[in-house]
This record gives sequence, C-alpha cells and structure tokens, in this order.
Amino acid sequence: MSDRTGRPQPVRAGCRRPFAPDPVRPARAVGLTADLLEAAARALLQAEDRLGVLDTAIGDGDHGRNMARGARAVAGIARDVVERPLPEALHRLGMTVVNSVGGAAGPLYGSCLLAMAQAAETEAPGRPIDPPMLARLWAAGVEAVKRRGRSDVGAKTMLDVLVPALAALSASPRLTAEAVRAAAEAGLAGTGPMRATKGRAAYLGDRSVGHLDPGAASAALIIERVIDAVEAGR
Ligand SMILES: [Mg+2]
Repeated sequence: MSDRTGRPQPVRAGCRRPFAPDPVRPARAVGLTADLLEAAARALLQAEDRLGVLDTAIGDGDHGRNMARGARAVAGIARDVVERPLPEALHRLGMTVVNSVGGAAGPLYGSCLLAMAQAAETEAPGRPIDPPMLARLWAAGVEAVKRRGRSDVGAKTMLDVLVPALAALSASPRLTAEAVRAAAEAGLAGTGPMRATKGRAAYLGDRSVGHLDPGAASAALIIERVIDAVEAGR
C-alpha cells in the first residue's frame, strides 16, 4: 500500500481507509437498492393507465405502455444491477431504458441515466449516495435531457418537473424530501396551463393547454420514489 507520493504506507489490520475500493470485488452501488428500483417500477406500472390517458389527450397515447415496458425491464435486472459499482449500474439501467422504452421518453430518460453514470465516475467508488451527491448526478442527467430534447423549462415537458425538483434538492445541503416532492408536484401542476412547444403535443398548439404533460407526470412519480429511498437511507 502506498500514498500519493508513492511511499509505502504501513497496513494496519482492521483499519481500512474510508471509501477505499475493494481490490477484488468492486464497490457496489450503495444507496441504489433493488427496493428503490422495484418501487419505482411498481409506481409506473400502477400509473400505466393514467399516463396513457394523459398522453392520449395531447400525444399518441403510448406513454403509459412505454414506461410500463421499461419498468418491467428495470425490475427484471434490479437485483443484479445493484451489486455493480454505481457508474456501471446506472449505465446498465440507462441502456435498458433506451432499449425497452419507446417514444420520446426512452431516449430522454436513457440519456439522463447515461449522463448520471458518467458523472458517477467522478465520485469516490463505494461512496453512498447522499443528497449532495444525488444533486450532482441529477444535474448531469438534467443537462443531458436538455441537450437531447433541445429543450428547457416552460415547454411543457419532463424538464418542468426535473429542473424545479433538482433546484429544491440543491437548495439545501440536507435533504428536504418534502420540498423536493412539493417542487415536483408544483412543476407537474404547472404544465397544465402551458402551451406545448416541444414534442408531439406542440402540434396541438393552444389545444395542448389544460392538460398535464405525461412526461412530467412520469418524472414526478419517479422522483417521489427516489426521494423516498434516499430519505429512508439516511
Ligand atoms: Mg407518446
């Protein structure tokens, strides 16, 4: 064992450096649990009809079905994926979402997870996901969704939930789960009066007003489950 200067360091039995990666088994993704993934999948499956109804109003009606397909795929790999190091786990989740969720949502949620995976590479291996780390990963994911969708808040998309919820999470070094949930819910409600300028709903112009955005609705559901899990893990 050596430090950064290359000098050999004494190794004391029973005294491991915090966050030191296991030399044989890579550190697993601490905080990303199968329970979390299964809870998010269950929430999306339960909301399949509601998301479908929302998407039928201003889109092509497939968002519930698409997210349900992704939810089943994610639930299927949940137990295995959480044993992997966080960057690898997030990358596998991203690829699974890209390959299973169709429509516009697949590439958007997929890009989000893949960007989070890349951001996770810069975190100490084996470090548990705490609120500040979640905020860093989430910020990378949100930027990827903006780039991929060439969009931002105010266009009646999932960004109208992702961005304010991230702001609520980043606003305090301690997780204020209630504030994050409230921001996601307010963001979703805020898509109602908006006129869509991105995605299929944009073709409807003014007729998109008065309907909640289905992507914002699924984002709010997922955020709620993630926040529950991070809160429970503290
Ligand atoms: Mg659709």
